[in-house]
Amino acid sequence: MGDNGRVTLYRDEGIVLRTQKLGEADRIVTVLTRRSGRLRAAAKGVRKTRSRFGARLEPFTHVDLQLYERRSLDLITQAETLRPYGERLVVDYPRYTAGTAMLETAEKLTAAEREPALRQFLLLLGGLRTLADGTHDPRLVLDAFLLRSLSVAGWAPALDECGRCGDRGQLRGFSIAGGGAMCARCRQPGTATPAPPTFALMLALLRGEWDYADDSEQRHRTECSGLVAAYLQWHLEHGIRSLRHVERDSGERGTAVPERGPDTPEAGDLSGAGDLSGARDFLGARDVPGAGDFPGAGDVPGARGASGGRDAEQPAGSGGTTDRETV
Ligand SMILES: [Zn+2]
Repeated sequence: MGDNGRVTLYRDEGIVLRTQKLGEADRIVTVLTRRSGRLRAAAKGVRKTRSRFGARLEPFTHVDLQLYERRSLDLITQAETLRPYGERLVVDYPRYTAGTAMLETAEKLTAAEREPALRQFLLLLGGLRTLADGTHDPRLVLDAFLLRSLSVAGWAPALDECGRCGDRGQLRGFSIAGGGAMCARCRQPGTATPAPPTFALMLALLRGEWDYADDSEQRHRTECSGLVAAYLQWHLEHGIRSLRHVERDSGERGTAVPERGPDTPEAGDLSGAGDLSGARDFLGARDVPGAGDFPGAGDVPGARGASGGRDAEQPAGSGGTTDRETV
């Protein structure tokens, strides 16, 4: 990019994934950006001053950044908060752990720094927004995010056909290594045999069919979460550490409280979440500043997503935003 000796400033928006200490007062901030993919940059003085600048660079925050290009770590010179999602997540443990798992997964799935990952960025943005809105069970939101992220990464599991032979008949098993659903003929002994509604739930989450997902039974959600987590962990050889907190948490709920946990704040209004607004929110970035001026969305590497991912972007169709034309 910049030539030697020339000062280069650039802007991008992004979601703060992580921060690390740097020296006495500084931080290294890892951000998944709209244009530049995942990058790490230095923020000066943010720990010493307790400045608003520092608060804008906390995990979960959607920020507009100005950066100064340097030979090593670029320097963040300005940060404006677009949405402080963290504020609404830290007060609710299930939502917070789900959000943390999203951030970690987004980081692991964008392995190379500065490789554009627009679809992953949009998924994370939509996922955090849906999580913060509280219109759906946090674990469902997380699983939808994980399934779609896997899809964007090119690892969508087969869900409505056999992953080995493509048969759309009776699906009996789910094979992590085999790529998802397996028909009765292809199923290897010892593979998981989820209930048919669990397959349907996974498909609904992949496609953003929240009506179906919100009405699903807890046992199918638990089974779905287990399969999604195992599938993700298998593909990401290094485990998603924060997912274990979610698993432990939901595992306890799953065994001790078969019904949806009464302590889930939004449990009461899940049935009322019948419209597609949540799905739209999850999928789009309609009202995100700068959404309209993003050029070249067509050549994003991660855009080769499986059909499930493409389908998932269809119903939003409110039209008009550049984000929609990612594929
Ligand atoms: Zn088969």
